[in-house]
Amino acid sequence: MIVGNISKILEIVRVSQRCRRCDLWKNADCFSSTIKCNTERYYNRVCKQCRCVIQAVCESKVKVEVIKGLGGKCVCCGESCKEFLTVDHINGDGAAHRERLKRSYAVYRDIRNQNFPRDKYRLLCSNCHNSISWYGYCPHVVETSRFENYMHLQMK
Ligand SMILES: [Zn+2]
Ligand SMILES: [Zn+2]
Ligand SMILES: [Zn+2]
Repeated sequence: MIVGNISKILEIVRVSQRCRRCDLWKNADCFSSTIKCNTERYYNRVCKQCRCVIQAVCESKVKVEVIKGLGGKCVCCGESCKEFLTVDHINGDGAAHRERLKRSYAVYRDIRNQNFPRDKYRLLCSNCHNSISWYGYCPHVVETSRFENYMHLQMK
């Protein structure tokens, strides 16, 4: 029983390694790994926790680049607070694009790779974006009485 435990501990020690980023010794389950063709397991050198942090930093960096590349403000009302801004697909293929690239981070990277084409993407703040996607127009450009017409049409 004790021997069993010791060999288990030895196994953990054998596969534990120091994370390159946080510099802590962690055991194997803290690292993602891949099995290569010869069934040997290769462990990532950075622990899972650190990978999440790195990824989040990369994601926000790319988002900032895309926001800058697309003009830095809402094309409708001029809002420039990054927290409010989203990328709008002008030809409306956002869902398809995301589906193709799976993650919104990949969407941002893809926009950067295409060198921020403004005929395909534009920045909108969440207000303008919501209004355009729900009602098809933004009250900043179309007078608000359209809303009554819209509701009226929906009720019919
Ligand atoms: Zn780490
Ligand atoms: Zn706006
Ligand atoms: Zn607007």
